[in-house]
Amino acid sequence: MSNAGGTLTTDLVVVGAGPGGYTAALRGAQRGLDVALVERETVGGVCINHGCIPAKSLIHAAGFQKDIQHWNDIGIETGEVSVDFEAVQAWKNDVVERLTDHIRAGLDDHDVCLLDGTARFLDSSTVVVESERGKRPVEFDHAVVATGSQPVELPGLGFDQDGVISSRDVLQLDAVPDELVVVGGGYIGMEAVTKFAKFGASVRVVEARDRVLGAFEEEIVDAIQETSEMYTDGIYTNALATGLEHDDEGRPVLLVDHDGTERRFSADYVVVAAGRDTTAARERLDLENTDVEVTERGYIVTDDQLRTTDDTIFAVGDAAGEPFLAHAAYREGKVAAAVAAGDDAALGTDYLPSVMYTDPEVAVVGRSESEARETYDDPLVGRVPMATSGRALSANKPAGYVKVVAAPDGTLLGAQVVGARASDTIAEATLALELDATIDDLRGTAHAHPTFPEALADAADDAVGESIHSH
Ligand code: NAD
Repeated sequence: MSNAGGTLTTDLVVVGAGPGGYTAALRGAQRGLDVALVERETVGGVCINHGCIPAKSLIHAAGFQKDIQHWNDIGIETGEVSVDFEAVQAWKNDVVERLTDHIRAGLDDHDVCLLDGTARFLDSSTVVVESERGKRPVEFDHAVVATGSQPVELPGLGFDQDGVISSRDVLQLDAVPDELVVVGGGYIGMEAVTKFAKFGASVRVVEARDRVLGAFEEEIVDAIQETSEMYTDGIYTNALATGLEHDDEGRPVLLVDHDGTERRFSADYVVVAAGRDTTAARERLDLENTDVEVTERGYIVTDDQLRTTDDTIFAVGDAAGEPFLAHAAYREGKVAAAVAAGDDAALGTDYLPSVMYTDPEVAVVGRSESEARETYDDPLVGRVPMATSGRALSANKPAGYVKVVAAPDGTLLGAQVVGARASDTIAEATLALELDATIDDLRGTAHAHPTFPEALADAADDAVGESIHSH
């Protein structure tokens, strides 16, 4: 890396230090490139600072009541319990800080030059990094755009209105609100329900479609909706949030068209979780000075090597479009950096697991039963209830099921897990798919007993009518 006349010259410049960006920077450095990483906020991006990690930390903390109930159920008496939410938030912030410190140390160890500021493309080989300290040109051989996404703002429900907050703000509240209304029954909305309802808030979800969690098949949604309703005041589907008023006390009142009937929901906060937008984050990037093309939906066009339509520029993570998942960004960051370093890397398969931290957890990978039926008349399908798992029962977590789907010749097509530790169990199914495993491979793999993933092998047995535990 050279620093002549204030202009930095580097092999690789990465714009955005979220999961896609910091991974690209580290992998580029590991492959021998000089790397500069530009970030205007904090390393770790939305996932680590304002999304996955704080959300999962709060979900973990919110589980206390159910855990206590569980201990009481199995004969362990507990005394009075109180929640110091400020202390919970301090602990959550500490989790975030430990992770961001670790990333910073990694960047340091790998001699990645971290530049504080906003990057703007001057052309296909130069960005200028603007900060309070001024402007600094950076000349590069390759660039990776990893600018992420921001919460979508709905018309009439802007985040500048009193009481309207984003999925980012809701993680920073210093007290548990009495009442929340969540607009959007997607991943973020349902995870918000999970944590705040458990902390004792009354939570309502307003979802425009006819069911929440539109990305998941109905069988899964039913399993979640059942449990969600146990701890929320209501999930309203076919309910379109149309606007906002404030009551006499200044509290927000959400206006909702619910199946043609106007409803008004007042709350302490209206949380808008209606999807993510990638364009606002790129606003000051000046991509028009390059040959990078953007789709109608605002995503940067990339190929399976994460190359954009400009030879020198890559794009990874949310900036390159759906799925908006941190683990997709991590994979993409590694591939883009390796290609920039001269390797012939590419994204391999379509097996990207999706995990939702509701209660119980949901994790899916590959094809669902209904998707398999679009191709095969008689796919092999095995399904076992979690209540037949020795591990699930001994952990007092019997809710949910494990399902595997395979082609008639036994080739595994997908798996769906609803239940405790679903987020962990799905890893085995993902590896099995990656290795083109069959139902027999799953059946023939020795599983330690008692464990949650054992249910995968039992579901594989069930797919050929030979389940030992489910009957
Ligand atoms: P989403 O697209 O999953 O859900 C948004 C929902 O809002 C949709 O169901 C939509 O119908 C509804 N909606 C939009 N406008 C509405 C209106 N006016 N009234 C009522 N409903 C309305 O988006 P999200 O939940 O914001 O999540 C964004 C992305 O973040 C997801 O695509 C996901 O990939 C990612 N994410 C992943 C995880 C995870 O992996 N565990 C967790 C959180 C977020």
